[in-house]
Amino acid sequence: MEQVHACKPRRCLVYDRHNQLVCKRRAPFQISEDAFVTDTGLCGPKRLYGYVNSWVPSILINVRCNNDGKFLTSGADTKNITFYVTSYTAKKQGKNYNVSAVMAKGYAYHLDHPKPEYVDSVRDQQRLLLFRLVHSINREQELAAPMVISYLMGWGDVYRSHTYLPIYWSSFTSALYTAFPELLRRAQ
Ligand SMILES: [Zn+2]
Repeated sequence: MEQVHACKPRRCLVYDRHNQLVCKRRAPFQISEDAFVTDTGLCGPKRLYGYVNSWVPSILINVRCNNDGKFLTSGADTKNITFYVTSYTAKKQGKNYNVSAVMAKGYAYHLDHPKPEYVDSVRDQQRLLLFRLVHSINREQELAAPMVISYLMGWGDVYRSHTYLPIYWSSFTSALYTAFPELLRRAQ
């Protein structure tokens, strides 16, 4: 269990603008005998030790994993946490170390398995290389479970709550200017 926060370089320890090494999770956290809300709107959980995340006992027991509960009171906080959780779940390929390792492996395989009949044809040789690289990615790329299910169910690769239609902005503005020519004069 990793419930106790231990600061580590390259994980949470970063340099601030005074060139001081500080924890970006702001450990040690504020200690309080009880959960609190102040008149000025500050709030926090009960915490008896400054290096423990605000863990939720029922999650710890039922899901058996460390957790870090957060009380969401603002749109900005909710937006940030939604992005964090979504990119975590959807395994965004933010850095390409994974796919580049897969491609390097595919390339090594390509070099180890020449096709003598293609030796005279650069084009076939290159085509085979691309074919093998694409297959390496196809076979070994880490995929998020929700994405796999979405493909298997034929739901496509995006989830949207709304249906979108293209709007041709220039036709829209020209219709607007025809109806309200004074807008055109103001824009110029
Ligand atoms: Zn830390």
